[in-house]
Amino acid sequence: MRPGEVPPPAGELHRPGLYLHIPFCRNLCPFCPYNRIAYDDELFARFERAAHEEIDLIAPHVDGCEVVSLYVGGGTPTVRTDGLARLLDHLRSRLTIIGDTCIELHPANMDDACLDHLREAGVTQVSIGVQSASDRLLQRIGRNHDAATGLDAARRAARSGFDSVNADLMFALPSQTLEDWDCDVREVLDCGVDQLSTYPLFSFPYSDLGKAEGLHRVPLPPARRVRSMLDCADRLARERGMERCAVWSWAKPGKKKFSSVTRHHYIGIGPSAGSMTGSHFHVNTFDVEAYADALPDRRPVALSLPVDRRLEMVYWLYWRLYELRAADRDFRALFGESASLAGTFGAMLQPFCWAGWLKRDDGEYRVTHTGAFRIHRLQNDYSLDYIDRLWGRCRNEAWPRAVDL
Ligand code: SF4
Repeated sequence: MRPGEVPPPAGELHRPGLYLHIPFCRNLCPFCPYNRIAYDDELFARFERAAHEEIDLIAPHVDGCEVVSLYVGGGTPTVRTDGLARLLDHLRSRLTIIGDTCIELHPANMDDACLDHLREAGVTQVSIGVQSASDRLLQRIGRNHDAATGLDAARRAARSGFDSVNADLMFALPSQTLEDWDCDVREVLDCGVDQLSTYPLFSFPYSDLGKAEGLHRVPLPPARRVRSMLDCADRLARERGMERCAVWSWAKPGKKKFSSVTRHHYIGIGPSAGSMTGSHFHVNTFDVEAYADALPDRRPVALSLPVDRRLEMVYWLYWRLYELRAADRDFRALFGESASLAGTFGAMLQPFCWAGWLKRDDGEYRVTHTGAFRIHRLQNDYSLDYIDRLWGRCRNEAWPRAVDL
């Protein structure tokens, strides 16, 4: 990826989503791979002013285009609920947002008043970072809340009238046993959440944990351990009537799925936010001060990568396989009536069908139970290395000269 201004996302956007990144946290978890920074009043004020300016810069180019979802992540988006409310108001006043508004919540920053504000501000889906139901494991990974706080947060959110409530749990944690994990999943499902999303702990070399351990690459947790924990979550979620909706997620039937990463075209606002338009993938500078300094004179894009039609199709397929399903009609809706999913990717996907990882049925490729684990393991091999290189450089340099992916 190279630096440089990217053309405004004019007519090339197809049902885009919007992502807003609020990079502040009250506690910096050592394992965290995301772009986050310790909360500071003055820096938050500079960030907020710049984010409003970035919205104003982007809005004219998205004029007339319906935005199908708004996702707010971080960081801890509710670190300042007043600032968050102002940004949501501004986004809604400048853009036509027709779909859900989804937000990530931290158990220690979501009292009942905060949940009320979010509902009044039009938030429809929330995700709670419970991470574990074990005090021992939460301490081990450096979280600043206990298990009771996390579970209480999930219970309160589930009762608060949102369209969908997701809870995040982490697994493959140091010293975590299968029994610990079984207990974590049961406790969270008992809170009445609509969706469960699970993530293995990946140690990125650039994270505080990775630096402390002197890592040079992202070690994958042992396959057998990941498989047994995923199988356990799958069994417990299905016992409660949930269906698998992505490699690592299960949801109640009929509930809207909470997902940050699977919109095809999206526009990112805030430090480190990425955007995918029909012609470019680009990321904003990760550095909050550099972000604030750049605006309003120019867009704070640090690196960009031109995306041709073939690369865009591969990108689409990557995320559809993550969601366990790639359908012909969705492919045609995006790439034109003459585009053929089987014609474009059939030869590449056939060996996965023979191996039993994919099934071709009724005009779509479906990922099987075995494939869900194995295909994602392959995706991990590629994506963790790519994230490590891109995010590692961008966390160290506000305006990198280039990053080879
Ligand atoms: S895991 Fe969440 S709360 Fe912890 S530092 Fe990262 S963004 Fe902040």
